[in-house]
Amino acid sequence: MTAHFPFDNSYGRLPARFFTRQAPAKVAAPRLIALNHDLAARLGITLPADHTEMAQIFSGNALPHGADPLAQIYAGHQFGGWSPQLGDGRAILLGEVVAPDGARFDIQLKGAGRTPYSRMGDGRAGLGPVLREYIVSEAMAALGVPTTRALAAVTTGEIVLREAPLPGAVLTRVASSHIRIGTFQYFAARRDTEALQALCDHTIARHYPAADGPLGLLQAVIGAQARLIAQWMGLGFIHGVMNTDNMTLSGETIDYGPCAFMDDYHPETVFSSIDQFGRYAYANQPQIAVWNLAQLATALLPLIPDQAEGIDRFTAAIEGFSTHFDAAWERVLRAKLGLATHAAGDGDLGRDLLAIMAAQRADFTNTFRALSGTDPRKARDQLIDPTALDPWLDRWQARLAHEERDMPARSAAMQATNPARIPRNHRVEQAIAAAHADDLEPFTRLMAALAHPFDDDPALATYTLPPSQAERVTATFCGT
Ligand code: AMP
Ligand code: MG
Repeated sequence: MTAHFPFDNSYGRLPARFFTRQAPAKVAAPRLIALNHDLAARLGITLPADHTEMAQIFSGNALPHGADPLAQIYAGHQFGGWSPQLGDGRAILLGEVVAPDGARFDIQLKGAGRTPYSRMGDGRAGLGPVLREYIVSEAMAALGVPTTRALAAVTTGEIVLREAPLPGAVLTRVASSHIRIGTFQYFAARRDTEALQALCDHTIARHYPAADGPLGLLQAVIGAQARLIAQWMGLGFIHGVMNTDNMTLSGETIDYGPCAFMDDYHPETVFSSIDQFGRYAYANQPQIAVWNLAQLATALLPLIPDQAEGIDRFTAAIEGFSTHFDAAWERVLRAKLGLATHAAGDGDLGRDLLAIMAAQRADFTNTFRALSGTDPRKARDQLIDPTALDPWLDRWQARLAHEERDMPARSAAMQATNPARIPRNHRVEQAIAAAHADDLEPFTRLMAALAHPFDDDPALATYTLPPSQAERVTATFCGT
């Protein structure tokens, strides 16, 4: 069977200044190391059975029929500092597929060679970062979080030079689009109102067809990002590099670089080695989102005829983020605590638990999972001093007495929201280290363990364990 991608490349029909047409650079000896069959089927992509042929496609050596490869241009604030021009420096958009259900997805090769936006970079990606993105993005999808996906990973047979020489690799990333806040910023900074209008129209048509103009778009993105970040935080996820070029208009999580899930809970947790001042720490994520969305508002403003009115309305929209986020976060907390009804004090109940967990270095995932079981008192074992949870457990039980749902139903609902397994850092690092030694077994097993994260499975119990002192990962790297 030959490859078939149902391409319809709408971004390539935008004005030429939105991108540079550019084919992926060829690689020496591509080898397929991971393929997401379920995702291929969902996208309506058919693939050759032969791994060698698939490796040619997913390395960029062979272009599937209908591809229109290009690198997108954008700008962005990185750690608060303005970069007037970024763009896909190591990624090539092959095109967009329209899935059997009509949904549109970008197919992008990440690590596909230099482009005019590569700056000092080599346009390549290392095996470690490719596997990290593959594992974590697919885990996020299985956890129900809006995210880009991973369709395939190949090694290139070439070496990339980072701190050390690493095996080169290419990730095939799937996204409902790669339109970023930084894409709008790029055209706004150049006062290119015509391009801004085209981008705004394209984004509305693609993601929010019901939105009315730039204000409607801004409001829709604010809502989507508020919900997304509440979901991240409900899973202990830290993105790590929330630059405006790494925030999508679609509301999908993008750019899994130095991201990480927390083991023991602390709101100030930072993993990224480049985040020296904790700008993107766990608890800062909502404020950073507001800051980024304010940059989007600023970029959209030139599209409003009456500037004074535009400023008022956009400001009000940005101020509305906290209402959206607080509501989304309370929904997340309520679900995590098994509360189907509303009562005054539910927010405090959740926040007080988190404060105890922080003081007691409780494992985020395992504490909530234990509370979801038939014997919630097992959650005590997650604390340094188990008795520190007792007063809170009494309060929670008193609150649960006002719920109509019985214990088995509540437990089932809590287990469907509090996962048993997350991609713990030390597991991700072990999978990468083994892959560097040509052993893909730990990667394959980890992917299988994360595919159904809400199901109890005693055979996968080791994946629920926090790292030992020796296994603990204290810093993560972009690897770029
Ligand atoms: P990131 O930190 O991954 O969001 O990347 C920031 C910018 O640097 C983006 O414009 C990337 O395309 C670019 N970039 C990152 N790594 C490389 C690389 N190895 N070669 C070329 N450009 C890169
Ligand atoms: Mg990026």
